[in-house]
Amino acid sequence: MTRPLPQNVFTTAPDWEEAAFTEAHQSPVPTSIRLNPFKPADIPFESKVPWSTYGRYLQERPRFTLDPLFHAGAYYVQEASSMLIEQAFRQIADTSKPIKALDLCAAPGGKSTLLASLLKEEDLLISNEVIQTRAGILVENMTRWGQLNTWVTNNDPKDFRRLDGFFDLMLVDAPCSGSGLWRKDPKAIDEWSPANVNLCKERQQRILADALPALKKEGILIYATCSFSPEENEQMVDWLVKEQGLTGLSLELDASWGVTETIADQSQAKGYRCYPWKMKGEGFFMAVFRKNEGNVAEQLWTGSSKTKADEKQMRQLTQLFQPFLNVPFALLQHQEMNYALHPEHRQHWAGLKSNLYIKKAGTALGQLLKDIVPEHDLAMSIHLAKEVPRVQLDHQEALHFLKKEAVQTDKGFKGWQVASYQHLGLGWGKWMPNRMNNYLPKSHRIRMDID
Ligand code: SAM
Repeated sequence: MTRPLPQNVFTTAPDWEEAAFTEAHQSPVPTSIRLNPFKPADIPFESKVPWSTYGRYLQERPRFTLDPLFHAGAYYVQEASSMLIEQAFRQIADTSKPIKALDLCAAPGGKSTLLASLLKEEDLLISNEVIQTRAGILVENMTRWGQLNTWVTNNDPKDFRRLDGFFDLMLVDAPCSGSGLWRKDPKAIDEWSPANVNLCKERQQRILADALPALKKEGILIYATCSFSPEENEQMVDWLVKEQGLTGLSLELDASWGVTETIADQSQAKGYRCYPWKMKGEGFFMAVFRKNEGNVAEQLWTGSSKTKADEKQMRQLTQLFQPFLNVPFALLQHQEMNYALHPEHRQHWAGLKSNLYIKKAGTALGQLLKDIVPEHDLAMSIHLAKEVPRVQLDHQEALHFLKKEAVQTDKGFKGWQVASYQHLGLGWGKWMPNRMNNYLPKSHRIRMDID
């Protein structure tokens, strides 16, 4: 790292070691990925991330863009410290009944894909991002992950106020001053200032105060940042306990992992810090809370707006699309597109739709024009039925497909096929006697030179 670090800026942080901090920032950034448990693939790795079931360190950083398995959603590239979220979920979440979870600040999707891997099929995850362009990237990554039980929304935190008491679990991975990521992103050093840290803290408070009504009584909040500043971490813990009436919760973390436990001054509530000189990962902070007061809303809408004719049409469409998926689903029609939802999640559609801007609900199946025109989402689904025709591509063919080029047509394939690499879907192609149409969405295509 060439940029000088600001001097003496974090000396108030618990267990701060100035020399170790400087030294860590002169050492290389470890590369880690998190495997998709529902898309098994053969990926060589150096070692496991001790606090994460699916986290793996790689020996070196490959060109991920040139790996078809990355595009297939076999793994997500994520720095290792933030995988500690798994411990919060496993130790605190009540998994004895279906969970409705909100990831409020979700783009580009690291924590959402992590949570999605831990949730059961009947659990519902709403991944939200306020910035429109970033919400698009979030949709792409959740599409790659391929789950039926995840929806993506593009809303301001205050819009969630209307979902009073709806969520059992809320993750707020807040926008922050980002000092924990300086080693990965040295440019961020130039943007850092004490004034900016305070602005971040004020914004974090606004975000939490806006969204907390949507967490039900007894619900769990996981608050996280990638900042080293106590203002954004332990002081926020105090604020959540004192001003928002939450109770801080403790985690049992293996001492060998090197996580630093902190105690907030006023509330004595615990926080968990990851320091790059104590762990193989970047700077990260996490604290977990239970909400004591508030409402409980199991669902937001109880009426039905469907007519008999609608119901008949839905039944017919369900029959048409059922052969594509290997699980039962509830069919939903929205703006000409047909979606598959987990059957238990259909009841939430009207309530969520009337309050939020939903960018993706469950799995987009396709449109019914003259024939079925299948949607990209369906090709990426972990539930794609094995009877759906697939074309197995080798590494080079897969890259050409991912560049949205025509892949050679002399193999005798016919009609719609899922272009696959190592048995994982990459997208749809339609093969005809003399040509092939590549239906990979433009936004997903590889832009770099593949040769
Ligand atoms: N959780 C993400 C992940 O693991 O990939 C990273 C989230 S990043 C730390 C914080 C996110 O908050 C960014 O996507 C940013 O666009 C969003 N954000 C920025 N300002 C916000 C605001 N005022 N309210 C809610 N979210 C905001």
